[in-house]
Amino acid sequence: EVKTQGRHGYCFYAPEMSQRSVASQRIENVLRHALVHGELSLQYQPKVDARLGHIVGAEALLRLQVDGQDLFVPDQFIPVAEDTGLIVSIGTWVLREACLQARRWQREGRAIPVSVNVSPLQFQYAGFYERLDSILNETGLDPSLLELELTERTMMTGGDGTIRLLRRIRQRGVRLSLDDFGTGYSSLSYLKHFPVDALKIDRAFVRDITQDAETAAITSAIIAMARSLNKDVIAEGVETEVQSAFLREAGCSQMQGFLFGAPMPAESLEQRLAEQTA
Ligand code: C2E
Ligand code: MG
Ligand code: MG
Ligand code: MG
Repeated sequence: EVKTQGRHGYCFYAPEMSQRSVASQRIENVLRHALVHGELSLQYQPKVDARLGHIVGAEALLRLQVDGQDLFVPDQFIPVAEDTGLIVSIGTWVLREACLQARRWQREGRAIPVSVNVSPLQFQYAGFYERLDSILNETGLDPSLLELELTERTMMTGGDGTIRLLRRIRQRGVRLSLDDFGTGYSSLSYLKHFPVDALKIDRAFVRDITQDAETAAITSAIIAMARSLNKDVIAEGVETEVQSAFLREAGCSQMQGFLFGAPMPAESLEQRLAEQTA
C-alpha cells in the first residue's frame, strides 16, 4: 500500500525509503487497479516494408491511460510490473488482447502479423508455453500471425531451457524476434544460437547512423550478418528520410518509426490498412 500521510500528518515510511520506491509503490497500485478495472489498452505501431512502404505488420504496445491521457509510460511501469511480478498477469492480458485483435483483422480479410513484447520474468515463468498455446486455441488465431519480441537479456538467461522453449514456440508456428538488438550483450556470434526469425535494430543505432560514421558501419555490418543468417532485419525508431534511405540501402527489410506512424489505436491502424488496399 502507498504509505500516505497518517491521521496526524506523519509519514509512516522510513526515512531511508527512497523517493523512487514511493513512486514505484504508486505505480504498482495504479497497475493493480488498471488490471482489475480494464484501464489497460494496446496501441499498434505499423511495421512497413522497407522498399514498398506498405504496412506488413504491427507491434502491440501497452498503454495505461485514463481519458486518453497516459498515467505512466511503459518505461516507467514495465520495470515496476517486472519487480512486483505483476508482469505475468499483465503480459497474459496483453497476449490475449493482441491475439483477439489479430484474429479480428484475420476475419476481416486484413490479416497482418501482430508482435507482442514479452518481458524476461513473464517468459521464464512456469507455464508460459501452455498459456500461449491456450490463448492461440481459444482465439483461433493463425499462429503465423503472432510474433513475440524478446530481448537479448531474456534469451541469455535460462541457458538450454530457454533455447528449448524458444524452439517449442517456433514449432507451434509463432515467429520470434530479437528486440533492441545491439543494446545488450550483443555478441554477434550468439545470434546463430538463437532460433529467431527476425532482429530489430535498436533505435539508438538508427538515431546515430547519419551523425556517426562508426555507428553507420556497425549498423551495416549487423544488417549484412543478419541477412547472411537468413534473418529478417527491422529497424526501430526511424524518424527521417535520410535514416530510412540509409537503412534500405544497407539491406534492412522492414522499418518502424514515427516517419511511418506512431503507435495508434487499432481503429486508426485499420483505417491505414483500408487506405492502402484502396
Ligand atoms: P520496444 O518494444 O522497443 O518498443 C519501441 C518503443 O519505441 C515504443 O515505446 C514506441 O512507441 C517507441 N517508438 C517507436 N517509433 C519511434 C520513433 O520513431 N522515435 C521514438 N523516439 N520512439 C519511437 P513505448 O510504447 O513507450 O514502449 C517502450 C518499451 O516498453 C518497449 O520498447 C517495450 O520494451 C516495453 N513495452 C511496451 N509495451 C509492452 C508490453 O505489452 N509488454 C512488455 N513486456 N513490454 C512492453
Ligand atoms: Mg518491441
Ligand atoms: Mg525495441
Ligand atoms: Mg525498447
